[in-house]
Amino acid sequence: MVDSSIIQMAPSIKCRHVAVIGAGAAGLVAARELRREGHSVVVFERQNQVGGTWIYTDHVEQDPLSIDPTRPIVYSSVYRSLRTNLPRECMGFIDFPFVIRPRKSRDPRRFPSHGEVVAYLQVSLRSLRSRR
Ligand SMILES: Cc1cc2nc3c(=O)[nH]c(=O)nc-3n(C[C@H](O)[C@H](O)[C@H](O)COP(=O)(O)OP(=O)(O)OC[C@H]3O[C@@H](n4cnc5c(N)ncnc54)[C@H](O)[C@@H]3O)c2cc1C
Repeated sequence: MVDSSIIQMAPSIKCRHVAVIGAGAAGLVAARELRREGHSVVVFERQNQVGGTWIYTDHVEQDPLSIDPTRPIVYSSVYRSLRTNLPRECMGFIDFPFVIRPRKSRDPRRFPSHGEVVAYLQVSLRSLRSRR
């Protein structure tokens, strides 16, 4: 049975304009959940694509101790052969599961490559946009 006193005490959710900083997995899931609650959300990302740490680059930091403040910073920390250490069913968003997509360019493994995670995160963003 539902306790009506709890419902009365719960603050009513007002629609807000919310800025989410970062389009990694955390920012993207935060944006989804905020949208589900009816808020208007804008995600700001400093890189030119979404995916955060899952975006692979073969560049490495020349100054790993960060002594030179003007050094070019490499944000990614994935290596070329990295695969997830969690199965895909633990990594998906609750309303957008990380399922196998039967396409040539996609990785069908249960513990897929970093590229598969980036592809999933990018498609998740498109699915969010198409809900408008
Ligand atoms: C080697 C490695 C393996 C991993 N394996 C797994 C795994 O198998 N399964 C798993 O679930 N997790 C794994 N993780 C954890 C992984 O970090 C999380 O899955 C998740 O990607 C973290 O997402 P995030 O959004 O918190 O951070 P990030 O992916 O780092 O995203 C942060 C985003 O915010 C942006 N940003 C930061 N500051 C600003 C700013 N001021 N303005 C605009 N944009 C900004 C960045 O550019 C970036 O895109 C692994 C991590 C590493 C390093």
